[in-house]
Amino acid sequence: MHNIIVNNYSKHIAIIGAGISGLALGLILKKANIPVVIFEKSNDISDYGAGISISSNGIKVLKYLNIYDEVIAFSKNPKEAVYFSGNKKINNFIVDVITTSRQTLYKVLYSNYKQLDGEILFNHQLNDIDTNRLEINFTGNKSYKVNHIVACDGIKSSCRKKIDSNKDPLYSGYSVWRAIVDKKQENIKTYLGTNHHIVSYPITNSKVSFVAVVKTSGNYQESWRTAGTYAELRNDLCHSNHEFFSFINEKTPLFKWGVYIRPPVKNLVYKNLTFLGDAAHPIVPFIGQGGCLALEDAYVFGNLLIKYHSDIHKAQNLYESLRLERIKKISNLSLRQGFLNHLSNPLLVFLRNFIMKFFPYFAMRSIKSNVWNYDPKHYIDNYE
Ligand SMILES: Cc1cc2nc3c(=O)[nH]c(=O)nc-3n(C[C@H](O)[C@H](O)[C@H](O)COP(=O)(O)OP(=O)(O)OC[C@H]3O[C@@H](n4cnc5c(N)ncnc54)[C@H](O)[C@@H]3O)c2cc1C
Repeated sequence: MHNIIVNNYSKHIAIIGAGISGLALGLILKKANIPVVIFEKSNDISDYGAGISISSNGIKVLKYLNIYDEVIAFSKNPKEAVYFSGNKKINNFIVDVITTSRQTLYKVLYSNYKQLDGEILFNHQLNDIDTNRLEINFTGNKSYKVNHIVACDGIKSSCRKKIDSNKDPLYSGYSVWRAIVDKKQENIKTYLGTNHHIVSYPITNSKVSFVAVVKTSGNYQESWRTAGTYAELRNDLCHSNHEFFSFINEKTPLFKWGVYIRPPVKNLVYKNLTFLGDAAHPIVPFIGQGGCLALEDAYVFGNLLIKYHSDIHKAQNLYESLRLERIKKISNLSLRQGFLNHLSNPLLVFLRNFIMKFFPYFAMRSIKSNVWNYDPKHYIDNYE
């Protein structure tokens, strides 16, 4: 890579991608007066109308970032998750969760970063990285010299391709339909069905996020923006006869997303490059943890950088050792949940529902203790 250096950021941490992990990390570093710059390929922060749920582990990070109140002001905080098998209620569970739109989360992170004069360069799509010379190059031949590179460029990370070039993702057999509809709803509703499950939750007082995961050979693209038709949705959900067809119709803007599986992550760092969020560990979205993990990663790596800013390699190594096991555990739990949600064998369905109905504590124990109760601050505070 021999390009003209447009700007010298040799003291800056360069973040590639202004998504959840990139903006959260930028905010943490900016607050600590560590020089940081974010490069984003789009001309603005994301405007996807999709919903996102943030469970208590992610909520803790929002609180540490002092943005919880701002997020909650534009979001919902359902108190219960109600589970159905087909159309029959199994049980309801108390939850601690924020359900919101991605736009809201991105906007709050971005506006807080900007309020601290955080620097962000839009229209910067990463082209190449030279991890030895610490140079990054973007389309249009703009190059920058930086102090460290943090890959926060999401599920199709160009940074990840730099080190895993030959590994194409495999279609998981699952696809996801999503829509935002005008509707009032208080709680989270999850319908478990044969080869599909459907989740709906409120994201404002008058809007509901609808997500349907179906097992299909459809091989849909991995993209937030691929539109689908009502007829295709009905075809994919032909085994479901549920109430949502009363509020989803031909006029509802529908989007479909193919879920792809990537090889399990072995490392989160490579030379002067550190991976966060989906760029580090893409996971299947069955327990709604990708965004929460992105927040946790940003919190952990950001605070390690603050603690060891004169020794970035130390911060990188500690980050990897603090995060890798947790990420592997959540990836496995997520895959397991996909399997449990889509059971078709009547005996297994009966057993699953029986446990959820009569042993709710047992049914939720693993997710609660392994996923929701996690507090990243505890690990930072106790690590010397
Ligand atoms: C259907 C579905 C439902 C989900 N539901 C939930 C949920 O309920 N709860 C939850 O916690 N998680 C959920 N997730 C996962 C969550 O959306 C992601 O894990 C999260 O957005 C990852 O954050 P990130 O910072 O890694 O990447 P992103 O937020 O995706 O940000 C990546 C950024 O990098 C930019 N970028 C990409 N390439 C380049 C490049 N070459 N150069 C410069 N910039 C670049 C992009 O434009 C984008 O701004 C869901 C995922 C799916 C697919």
